[in-house]
Amino acid sequence: MSAAPRFARIAVPSPLSRHFDYRLIAGEPVPAPGTRVRVPFGRQELIGVVLGVATQSNLPRDKLKSIRRSLDAEPLFPVTLMELLVWASAYYHHPIGEVMATALPVLLRRGLPANAAGEKRFALTEAGRQLSPDALKRSPLQQRLVQALNARAEGLSAAQLTEVASHWRDAIKRLTARGLIHITEEPCQPPKLAGQHRAPQLTPAQQAAGAAILAASGKFQCLLLLGVTGSGKTEVYLRAIEEVIARGDQVLVLVPEIGLTPQLVTRFEGRLNAPVAVMHSGLNENERLCAWQMARTAQAAVVIGTRSAVFTPMPKLALIIIDEEHDASFKQQDGFRYHARDVAIKRARLENLPVLLGSATPALESLHNAQQGRFQLLSLPERTGAAQPPRVTLLDLKRLKRNEGISPPLIEALQARLDRKEQSLLFLNRRGFAPVLMCHDCGWLAPCKRCDARLTIHQRSRKLRCHHCGAEAQLPVTCPACGSGNLHGIGEGTERIETALARLFPQARIERIDRDSTRRKGSLEEKLRRVHAGEADILVGTQMLAKGHDFPDLTLVGVLNADQGLYSADFRSEERLVQQLVQVAGRAGRADKPGEVLIQTHHPDNPAFAALAHHDYREFGRYALAEREAAQYPPFAHLALLRAESPKPDAALAFLRAAHGHAENLVEAEPVHLMDPVPSPMERRAGRYRAQLLVQAGERKALHDFLNIWLAQLEGEKLGHRVRWSLDVDPVEMY
Ligand SMILES: [Zn+2]
Ligand SMILES: [Zn+2]
Repeated sequence: MSAAPRFARIAVPSPLSRHFDYRLIAGEPVPAPGTRVRVPFGRQELIGVVLGVATQSNLPRDKLKSIRRSLDAEPLFPVTLMELLVWASAYYHHPIGEVMATALPVLLRRGLPANAAGEKRFALTEAGRQLSPDALKRSPLQQRLVQALNARAEGLSAAQLTEVASHWRDAIKRLTARGLIHITEEPCQPPKLAGQHRAPQLTPAQQAAGAAILAASGKFQCLLLLGVTGSGKTEVYLRAIEEVIARGDQVLVLVPEIGLTPQLVTRFEGRLNAPVAVMHSGLNENERLCAWQMARTAQAAVVIGTRSAVFTPMPKLALIIIDEEHDASFKQQDGFRYHARDVAIKRARLENLPVLLGSATPALESLHNAQQGRFQLLSLPERTGAAQPPRVTLLDLKRLKRNEGISPPLIEALQARLDRKEQSLLFLNRRGFAPVLMCHDCGWLAPCKRCDARLTIHQRSRKLRCHHCGAEAQLPVTCPACGSGNLHGIGEGTERIETALARLFPQARIERIDRDSTRRKGSLEEKLRRVHAGEADILVGTQMLAKGHDFPDLTLVGVLNADQGLYSADFRSEERLVQQLVQVAGRAGRADKPGEVLIQTHHPDNPAFAALAHHDYREFGRYALAEREAAQYPPFAHLALLRAESPKPDAALAFLRAAHGHAENLVEAEPVHLMDPVPSPMERRAGRYRAQLLVQAGERKALHDFLNIWLAQLEGEKLGHRVRWSLDVDPVEMY
């Protein structure tokens, strides 16, 4: 008979990249993997997740502390999800405790019961817990309540508070106002069912795609649905979901941050007539726990969520769908830098189920996987209904004079739309009035004091603003260098284009949609409502407009400056540009009204534009993948980026040089290539100097073997204590 386990391996939320051993509580049941426990950690008490139990520990007996308390009777994460989290920790080289914490709703990280949502609960905030016992001396009632709450980190219900003190409400109100108590409210209701909307007739291509998805049921398979804009990808998703939930199974749908609109959710609810749980960053903590609980108990048949929803426990999960799989928001850019698409594929493999990636413009990595036969390619080559693809024309800026950034052919095309009472959209990925303020007498350019960047002019608010760190200054009247009043904005932003349009077309109703004009809650919805109601003639906007919006009267899309992103230091910038242009061009024209796209560029011969004009993203993919292969960039090599930053000018670079030194001894044995440490393309940002070191390997395993040894050495590197450093596996942003 094997010995009874006496220790538990616990993932504790700490920046240390390992688990910790604790003694089990004598006489209590052995905690199952995936349950939470409260453990002493240094001077604090933390909530960790049990990874497993053991009969032995490497630590000496007297060093081992004991678990204080088990919080869950049954695991919060099923076995395969635990496996996924452990894998993600190893793959992204991120501490297991922080990975586990990411996967848990905040209220569960704080120790509330898993089914806590729905009941009004009162718990101490961090400030409340830190409060010294003397601070409330003058109010014995408040003191008593805080003491009671201190003993119960998961909080107390109203009924439990009444047991502590019958007249607790005023005191709790005062403590809440001081930020010492946190209340979770809003009852957790099962998602409501909407009326069933009728499904449209499918095209043959949609039917074929649906059949292929169905054929993949019950086994691991990646399917890439390449569908041009307007080809009805969502309809394919909906049919597949219907099939799966009819069997009583669950579906997880991941969408980009910007794509999770109320319209999308309504469309899903209306068609599926099934309980849908929605998970995104806009939820409060109670709502989030509610949605999580619905998913975990399979009360929700469908979960629609952004990036972190990939970690939601779903016992009957049978299909994962990732819409706009190329979207950069699937990659977490700080802390635990995981890619939700890649994690989802791993999850599908572990749970033995199909995963469907959809996009009009797949990531080159995915396209390559399809070409290699690792993904099954499903194609929707045509728009639904009678809609033709829009005609794309390139306007050569070298030959055209512009009126405030708008060329004569574009002005003509706008006038024609106004005459026909159709809508136009001008796309420009730059908000504000002008990107640079310059003195025409001495050449002074308004700089950001904290970044290697220029300040953007915001004429409406009479401000200069840094789009990198958020710094603000009043718009100066005279040049701070020479005193001249000859200050002018160089280049165009959305504000300036809006002003120019108002001058060119005084009768037109213009709607500007960017981050500045939609800051107020509800203003985006109101603007979109006006556009849909035909109360706007010309839309001016940034990438906020590029996705997910369907404007039936829109027949012209003008791209004002397509060249940002060409010839950039980041090897992904061209891919991103083409993806964005395809998306925005896709807004033009629907069934009965053909669309036109005019693109202003200085480089009409660039092959990226040719693919756009031919409506052939795969043509772009072939050319771009050939370039990637020649340069040995992903998907032909695997990358990791070591970043460092510091308020001191040379500290980051010094650390990376030391890191490079450590690697030199290792690299001989490993087929891994290290670039030289370099300052980041924008070296100074928000007052911090940044540098980076790129690691490249032909084989994924070689890269990870190297990183495992190298990171262990870096944790002991003294220069590392002076900087903030991080490792990014499969980086998406290269600065
Ligand atoms: Zn000047
Ligand atoms: Zn700045």
